[in-house]
Amino acid sequence: MTDGLPGHAEIVVIGGGIIGCSTAYHLARDHKTDVVLIDRGRLTGGSTWHAAGLVGQLRSSASITRVLRYSVDLYKKLEQETGLATGWRETGCLRLACNADRWIEFKRQATTAHSFGLDMHLLSPAETKARWPLMRVDDLVGASFMPTDGQASPSDITQALAKGARMHGAKLFEGVACTGFDLENGRVAAVRTAHGRIRCEKVVVCAGMWTRQMAALAGVSVPLQPVKHQYVVTEKMDGVVAGMATVRDPDRRTYFKEEVGGLVFGGYEPNPMAWTTAGVPEDFEFQLFDDDWDHFEQHMAAALVRIPALGSTGIKQMINGPEAFTPDGNFILGEAPEVGNFFVGAGFNAFGIASAGGAGWVLADWVTAGEQPLDLWAVDIRRFSSLHKDRTWTRDRTLEAYGKHYAVAYPLEEYASGRPRIVSPLYERLKKRRAVFGSKLGWERANWFAPEGVEPRDIYSFGRGNWFDHVGAEHRAARERVALFDQSSFAKFEMRGRDAAEALSWITANDVAKAPGSLVYTQMLNSRGGIECDLTVARLAADHFYIVTGTGFRTHDFAWIRQNVPAGLDAELVDVTENFGTLSLFGPCARDVLACVTRADVSNGAFPFATTREIDIAGAKVRALRVTYVGELGWELHMPLEVTGTVFDALMSAGSAHGIALAGYRAIESLRLEKGYRAWGADITPNDSPREAGLGWAVKLKSDLPFLGRAAAEMAASAPLAKRLMTFTVDDPAVVLAGRETIFRNGLPVGYLSSGGWGYTVARNIGLGYVRSDDGLTNDYLESATYELEVAAERVPAELHIGPLYDPTMSRIKA
Ligand SMILES: Cc1cc2nc3c(=O)[nH]c(=O)nc-3n(C[C@H](O)[C@H](O)[C@H](O)COP(=O)(O)OP(=O)(O)OC[C@H]3O[C@@H](n4cnc5c(N)ncnc54)[C@H](O)[C@@H]3O)c2cc1C
Repeated sequence: MTDGLPGHAEIVVIGGGIIGCSTAYHLARDHKTDVVLIDRGRLTGGSTWHAAGLVGQLRSSASITRVLRYSVDLYKKLEQETGLATGWRETGCLRLACNADRWIEFKRQATTAHSFGLDMHLLSPAETKARWPLMRVDDLVGASFMPTDGQASPSDITQALAKGARMHGAKLFEGVACTGFDLENGRVAAVRTAHGRIRCEKVVVCAGMWTRQMAALAGVSVPLQPVKHQYVVTEKMDGVVAGMATVRDPDRRTYFKEEVGGLVFGGYEPNPMAWTTAGVPEDFEFQLFDDDWDHFEQHMAAALVRIPALGSTGIKQMINGPEAFTPDGNFILGEAPEVGNFFVGAGFNAFGIASAGGAGWVLADWVTAGEQPLDLWAVDIRRFSSLHKDRTWTRDRTLEAYGKHYAVAYPLEEYASGRPRIVSPLYERLKKRRAVFGSKLGWERANWFAPEGVEPRDIYSFGRGNWFDHVGAEHRAARERVALFDQSSFAKFEMRGRDAAEALSWITANDVAKAPGSLVYTQMLNSRGGIECDLTVARLAADHFYIVTGTGFRTHDFAWIRQNVPAGLDAELVDVTENFGTLSLFGPCARDVLACVTRADVSNGAFPFATTREIDIAGAKVRALRVTYVGELGWELHMPLEVTGTVFDALMSAGSAHGIALAGYRAIESLRLEKGYRAWGADITPNDSPREAGLGWAVKLKSDLPFLGRAAAEMAASAPLAKRLMTFTVDDPAVVLAGRETIFRNGLPVGYLSSGGWGYTVARNIGLGYVRSDDGLTNDYLESATYELEVAAERVPAELHIGPLYDPTMSRIKA
């Protein structure tokens, strides 16, 4: 089937599993592109043919849930379009809870489902039994039921997608292996195959577990790890009938589905088996590993307890196959930061069948537009960094994520493997002062500090964590005295060049081309006017800018800036993250402390808000940025890495007279919620415009300066607002907000929380969330109503606030 392999195609998709076929289908159907798909073997021969076929939809990200919902909608109608059966059956899915924490998790999931527009209800053990009589329910607290989940035949869907792709003009070739890529000027120019070269504008690699090694041929890092995953297929069983709900029994780490009158069951073991950290063999097609009954024994034992009738049922077949898993359990989509026009769709963590329809849809949009069509941060390839090139680290973290697949997911839980990996120069000092660390993009960061007598470790729960009171003390220190935060992990870039101001002016929504010494908070918008990045830009000299952004956004923001600098400008972007340590000194006494350690004038007149100066501290040159993310007087101090310890010691020593405290990231979270500062990735995303987020003040629409996203922002400015980010409070301290709680206005759902937490100064629960209405969202409309939040499936009264809850410049706390 290699006859007619063209020498040119607009887009080449590599891999004919379910993901590649869905991507080709959408590229052809929605964008009418000239698309060629190649597979080394035959379609479905990788992981797709042996998948179990369960299709679930709910994820913790609204966008990813939307992607999975799209899959279900597509699978329902694909047969009608293509004439090929897909095996789709909307059976619903039961999830079983065997303990109190799991039950809370399910109640929270039910609320998340409601927030995202999905139906999920909670059942008693008796109701569960009535739906699935073969099941033992005496150990259940209850179950959740999502009626629109289902199951499908993975190979049949793939063949239907392939046929649909051909019907819309795509050309599919089997038996054509990709052997490499030709790059020109940092962009992909051609795909090399065993049957010749295909010149192309763009490439999309959907090569499943081979994606890592294939992308490496172009210098692109795709951190995934093949892991062995097993299930068995039983003989027919009395009482098992077509249309029965699929079942997930996470406390016993198993799942079940009906198949031709018998059951398919498998599980996620805590001791998973990586397949290979070397290359995946090229000829591994339609192959399985040998049955591994010893390893499967744990799932068998658990399944027998749940469904005793299995004890007298024969096993027809074991499937032991590999699948590409990732270090955080989410798949990998998007344009590689290393190479232009090189896209990836891989690492589907055993939910590739559930994801494929929607993943193909958004990936095709992304490939054609060059921008993600909705907030896909959770699966964005730019969430990784050079750390993830380390295969051992990636394997260990991936196995940990796999092992946690069915564990109760507590809020704020941290991974344990591969740590510590990247540490700031203050690591040992902070550790000695009883820091409890979390990890972000490989960096160890202090989340909180345990006082003497308190064990420095997280104890997770759905209530208040063991850190609650201690974070409160750090929060109060920042509000009432002064606190020092180690933020050395901040991503830092420099842009230099004759045209640096022009380049940054084009990319930023705020006016950053101010006089040297200025500091500007800005967003960067996509062409739809959605927020792609939010960061601060300091102008150090006419041709020299310093850019600071969040730790986790390093790869993403760097790629976005570099990608959008207009061609031909003299503006070089360099990542200088590891060159600088960062200490944030925040609180009403911050100036007093800083004045003790520097000869520079740090008075408000000499060093006003939103400026930057080079000052001396303990003999070191420090870039001081007058900025705050906590709503207090303060400075971010950026200094050469090697003097970070000396500066830290000087500040701690000078601060002792002012009651200085060390504080961590959990305190920052409560401080910023009180001040209503938005967090990118949660409150502001590519789905949201600055105006909707209440950040219209930071967009230079009043100037006539051109910038990326201006046309969309202008158009939106004259239209009524359909959504608006608001602050909510809940007085009851027994309620815990964690994000994704449903917002009810006068009894009707109007949105959900994007962030949630506790504000120690206002002594209330705080949530941020978009209220939506097609009628426009005036203050009158917002304020003339009563509000409730659905928290863990129960409604609680809430209060809406249009402005921030806390504002120190007005010396007041909103009551
Ligand atoms: C035991 C098991 C059970 C599972 N159960 C479920 C389930 O119930 N529900 C669910 O949603 N998911 C499930 N999955 C996961 C699902 O199978 C995968 O997520 C999905 O099939 C991944 O599809 P893919 O297209 O990314 O990869 P693949 O199907 O592996 O496709 C990759 C393709 O790339 C081709 N290729 C590789 N190298 C080259 C090259 N050099 N040139 C050209 N082509 C190349 C290969 O030939 C292959 O066809 C399960 C997985 C396993 C292992």
